[in-house]
Amino acid sequence: MDIRKLVKPNIRSLRAYHAKEIPCMVKLDANESPYGFRALKSVETNRYPDPQSKSLRELIAKDSKVKPENILCGNGSDELIYYLVTTFGGPVLYPVPTFSMYGIISQALNQKKIEIPLDGNFDLDIEKMLQSINRYRPKLIFLSSPNNPTGNRFSTDRILEVIRSSSSPVTSHPSLVVVDEAYQPFSGKNEFLPLLGKFKNLVIMRTLSKIGLAALRLGYLTANNEIIGHVNRVRLPFNVNSLSQAVAIDALKNKKQLRSNIASVISERKRLFNAMKKIGAVTPYPSDANFILFKVMQADSIYSSLLKKGILVRNLSEVIDGCLRVTVGTPGENNLFLKTLKQVL
Ligand code: PMP
Repeated sequence: MDIRKLVKPNIRSLRAYHAKEIPCMVKLDANESPYGFRALKSVETNRYPDPQSKSLRELIAKDSKVKPENILCGNGSDELIYYLVTTFGGPVLYPVPTFSMYGIISQALNQKKIEIPLDGNFDLDIEKMLQSINRYRPKLIFLSSPNNPTGNRFSTDRILEVIRSSSSPVTSHPSLVVVDEAYQPFSGKNEFLPLLGKFKNLVIMRTLSKIGLAALRLGYLTANNEIIGHVNRVRLPFNVNSLSQAVAIDALKNKKQLRSNIASVISERKRLFNAMKKIGAVTPYPSDANFILFKVMQADSIYSSLLKKGILVRNLSEVIDGCLRVTVGTPGENNLFLKTLKQVL
């Protein structure tokens, strides 16, 4: 029996997300925080979780200065991307290179993908974006800013142009613009959240994964309550488990710890960037995130040599010629990475 024949054609040609556990000594491949939280909570394991994540949403809403009905929690922002594409459908437009799940989920749900290459500075190619918005009338536009894997924020003016050009009443074919701010805590900018009241088609997506809570799988959308209401129709009833809700509430209340962990990643990012620049045979790209993209000669062999010495980074040479991506770790991990990189070069 040929099971393959049963699989839908859009799934047959789908390349799964690269999420492999590769044994290593220093793990700097997945944009996680090097600092976690002690997570011991007692929950009533016989009861279903709070289907609305009420207390968690209230806490996030207070911090974001919005109402709880403007927040929707997901099992990671991956799940929220799924929900958005399920709710609104395609075409789905996004710049490339960017976070691969926008494309994977669109294809899994059989929606048309429109990929617009970034310009030479890894910024939005605004002319091409606007042309394609006009031509294809996408339902959804995903902008990861800071962008994964390039690390930079897109320029504010260009993001605003995209939002304006796709918001009614300017156009009779509005698009939702999802600004994916997974790396916002490391950028020091909070420009789009305050604009939610101004643009009805704006959705902000954030995650707790990059600030020390990746194990919980918790992302959230902030948007007007009409959008949240529609997405809630497709949300699975108990999508965020009780342990994750309870641990996230404790961690989010621990602002001092969160802030100090983020500050340490930012200061290490600066140090790592300057040290990499000094190496000479390495071109690091400026980053507003918790990782640094860098170019080397013979990226594949540098990647393998680093791994042989226990240092795991992400090989992106198939996506951006000659590039690898290193996540900012603890000072000790970063030193080890720098020392090993110099050796293998
Ligand atoms: N958006 C971007 C830009 C990301 O880089 C990632 C994680 N790699 C995610 C979303 C997914 O985050 P989560 O862990 O919340 O699913």
